[in-house]
Amino acid sequence: MLKKVLIANRGEIALRVLRACREMGIATVSVHSEADHDSLHVKLADESVCIGPAPSPQSYLNIPALIAAAEVTGADAIHPGYGFLAENADFAEQVEQSGFVFIGPRPETIRLMGDKVSAKRAMIEAGVPCVPGSEGALPDDDKEILSIADTVGFPVIIKASGGGGGRGMRVVEKKEDLLKAVEMTKTEAGMAFGNPMVYMERYLQKPRHIEIQVMADEQGNAIYLGERDCSMQRRHQKVIEEAPAPGITEAERRKIGEACVAACKRIGYRGAGTFEFLYEDGEFFFIEMNTRVQVEHPVTELITGVDIVQEQIRVAGGAALQYQQKDIVLQGHAFECRINAEDPYNFIPSPGLIASCHLPGGLGVRVDSHIYQGYRIPPNYDSLIGKICVHGKSRQQAMAKMRVALAELAVTGIKTNTPLHRDLFIDNDFQKGGVSIHYLEHWLEERKAQAAK
Ligand code: ADP
Repeated sequence: MLKKVLIANRGEIALRVLRACREMGIATVSVHSEADHDSLHVKLADESVCIGPAPSPQSYLNIPALIAAAEVTGADAIHPGYGFLAENADFAEQVEQSGFVFIGPRPETIRLMGDKVSAKRAMIEAGVPCVPGSEGALPDDDKEILSIADTVGFPVIIKASGGGGGRGMRVVEKKEDLLKAVEMTKTEAGMAFGNPMVYMERYLQKPRHIEIQVMADEQGNAIYLGERDCSMQRRHQKVIEEAPAPGITEAERRKIGEACVAACKRIGYRGAGTFEFLYEDGEFFFIEMNTRVQVEHPVTELITGVDIVQEQIRVAGGAALQYQQKDIVLQGHAFECRINAEDPYNFIPSPGLIASCHLPGGLGVRVDSHIYQGYRIPPNYDSLIGKICVHGKSRQQAMAKMRVALAELAVTGIKTNTPLHRDLFIDNDFQKGGVSIHYLEHWLEERKAQAAK
């Protein structure tokens, strides 16, 4: 059993991990940049260490500083949260080589799944259905690229093998634009991810984004915890998530869940992970795997009752999973709204001082947030300031709960995207359920057009 965990992150996820440790009787070490002295994850931790100046390359991404912090505080494990170094195989390796437990998969697994081309290859071998596309990375030869696109069929999407966070993708509608698009994506990928490799997929017209949460241990057990629907996206980034996905049958869930479990066993997966799929006309197509806890994990926790972060920590400490597949029973329906410090109309980030702050509550309402009255949101990091989650007996009841929670939420001094969420939760199509990944973008265009009238 682990005794002291260093949390290599900030914001709401640092707080989430801290709370999980506390409940398990595990001591916590927070790390923070100079911009985060006043953060809740620092105030609530047993110990904290300043690891560098505000810019994340010098602090939250500073591997030697993080390992030194673990050494001086005598931590025995490091939890990376999500973002920052969570999917950095070199970090996981250095953590282990320095004698600490990395709370996540083995470095080889992170490396395998972190490269989307090798991840897709591994999934094809494991029998997981993938989006039709190029076999591996695109070649340099123009003729070959054109012929691959003809086989795949337009429109296609060019994706960076090392991409992430919704970046490094380009949709190509027609043949004339293909070669230029490939070249541009390669150049950008090389600069942004240090890896110019790109691949091609058929661009699906109206898919939904549905992902499967898995958990695995080192004893060879693996389970799936149902699915989440994350189709409400802006610029390939999730805005609202829900579980279960509307309209997915138990038979469909079992089939794709079992395929993911088989893949976990095949690659020797350890800890929490997510297989992301696009879902169209009753078919699942794998797009990528996230080898970490995800922002939207609470919706799964709410419908399964499994504490995913505690289970991660237990498995990392060498214990077997506490649950078997038969113990995973989905109950009710859950939603999550990502609350960002940004303008709800033009999405420009809005850091600064929180003058007042009232967070919602009540039965079935969960708020994961690090903000408080008087807290100053630094301009240096992601704009996520919290997540409002609800759990109801039915989808309809959960929606009603979310409307009440959003009505109560009041943050002043900065702008937040709360008005956007309020509007979406009274939108007819979203209320019906099952909208595609393009729905929100169209909805936003429509709103803009209306406002211009
Ligand atoms: P990232 O790692 O940057 O999140 P993903 O491969 O997970 O990239 O894709 C992010 C989003 O981009 C998906 O949820 C979906 O909205 C869109 N997308 C990716 N691949 C395709 C595709 N083949 N067809 C249509 N949309 C896609």
